[in-house]
Amino acid sequence: MRNWKPIYIENSRILVWLSYLVPIKIQAIALGVIVISKDEVSEVTKNHETIHFQQYLETLFLGFLILYFWDWFIGLVKYRDNYKAYLSIRAEQEAYKHQENLAYLSTNRKRWCWLWRPDPMNLN
Ligand SMILES: [Zn+2]
Repeated sequence: MRNWKPIYIENSRILVWLSYLVPIKIQAIALGVIVISKDEVSEVTKNHETIHFQQYLETLFLGFLILYFWDWFIGLVKYRDNYKAYLSIRAEQEAYKHQENLAYLSTNRKRWCWLWRPDPMNLN
């Protein structure tokens, strides 16, 4: 399961349409087993989204979505800033911290390590 990868759909128009609905620019998004991206994605972005895919698996998909929006909401209340709220999401903290390490998922990542925020970003 550690080496499972999502299905990548690159150069998709879906995110262009989505950008008309939500006021944020999304380069790529992991939606369960599918990762959709606007352009061709770099290995770093693929790694980032694959970390999210593993988080989805660890929380049976629904848990990921609940935690994601919960953390975003709490971040919004705490920071009153959409970008800081986004960065405060625990799933994003793990993904951003380790996205550059392309061996991270296959080597030293511990299951569910992101759930308890062992090393939160300082957003103040
Ligand atoms: Zn992310």
